Amino acid sequence: MEIQMVDLKNQYLKIKTEINEAIQNVLNSSQYIKGPYVHQFEQELSDYLNSKHVIGCGNGTDALQIALMALDLKEGDEVIVPTFTYVATAEVIALLKLKPVMVDVDPNTFNLSVEHIKNKITPATKAIIPVHLFGQSADMESIVKLAQQNQLYIIEDNAQAIGAEYTFSNNETMKTGTIGVIGTTSFYPSKTLGCYGDGGAINCNDDDLAQKIRMISNHGQSKTYYHERIGINSRLDAIQAAILSVKLKYLDKYINARQEVAAYYDKTLAQVNEVCLPNRADYSSHVFHQYTLKVAKNSRNELRAFLSEKKIPTMIYYPLPLYRQKAFFDPSIDANEFPNTNELCDTVISLPIHTEMNNEILDYISSSVKEFYR
Ligand SMILES: *Cc1c(COP(=O)(O)O)cnc(C)c1O
Repeated sequence: MEIQMVDLKNQYLKIKTEINEAIQNVLNSSQYIKGPYVHQFEQELSDYLNSKHVIGCGNGTDALQIALMALDLKEGDEVIVPTFTYVATAEVIALLKLKPVMVDVDPNTFNLSVEHIKNKITPATKAIIPVHLFGQSADMESIVKLAQQNQLYIIEDNAQAIGAEYTFSNNETMKTGTIGVIGTTSFYPSKTLGCYGDGGAINCNDDDLAQKIRMISNHGQSKTYYHERIGINSRLDAIQAAILSVKLKYLDKYINARQEVAAYYDKTLAQVNEVCLPNRADYSSHVFHQYTLKVAKNSRNELRAFLSEKKIPTMIYYPLPLYRQKAFFDPSIDANEFPNTNELCDTVISLPIHTEMNNEILDYISSSVKEFYR
């Protein structure tokens, strides 16, 4: 039995007939760009998220870039991002000559919290990009409140949390990605809703904004060969859209399978005092894009090596905070501003989690972690 961080092959084999047929349909239609399959998937995702508009695009990074472009920010405007995230979130900000303002995260949820954002807001701050890291929502109610008080846009980077639900204090629930003015997501193959190549999407409720987003993702054109603004070329192609239409039907099942894996790990690792289990915030469901433990800094590498010996892969998401990446080097940044992120980069370790795990594999992984700390 081979253990992988993600098992895309066996997931595919279970829906092979449907997927192959969906791809064949696109081949028969030969409508590879735009057309009915893209439109259909956009509609289905819009229904799933309960967000009025969904616009497919080339990948999750483009989705963030297009979202920022649609807000018409000016050079030098500041955008708040967590420093504990994947690089894409901050990269597009810098690429557009906006200023990424990196903030620390909550040590338990790994997400942005108002406490960390508050003292980073200046007159130049225009937007906040919360990242729902590893599959759990950031504390959106308080972030929304803060954003309203300071007239800031919220773009939610929902690449890791599609399908997660946020519960407000009045018990109203909303899907992550639909709470801010714009939500973005990625269909990179290993994501919870992944296609078989690159893909991404942007969603919003505002009609004018949606039109602008569509225009920007298609060379800024309002109609063919009439260009109203500078845009980019970023499209979700029809083959990926057709695959996603099939996989979207299984998304809740996939999420459920991940939650069962997480519950199994939680139960079996609860007795191991040396590991800190993933936090579950009471305001969010957790779709477990990753199952991430915290362990003592001085035991992490040994644990990884021990598990690796036993053919159990692990990953460190993320080993280096964004503020310490060479690409974002800024001598004025003080490392002491990010104690939680610094700690997390030294202590997190993610175990294999995907939709195709069985109890035998899970038991083997859990027992091996326990064995290491015995
Ligand atoms: C995967 C990911 C992205 C980028 O998605 P791509 O499709 O790879 O461009 C952006 N943000 C986060 C948090 C991600 O996990």
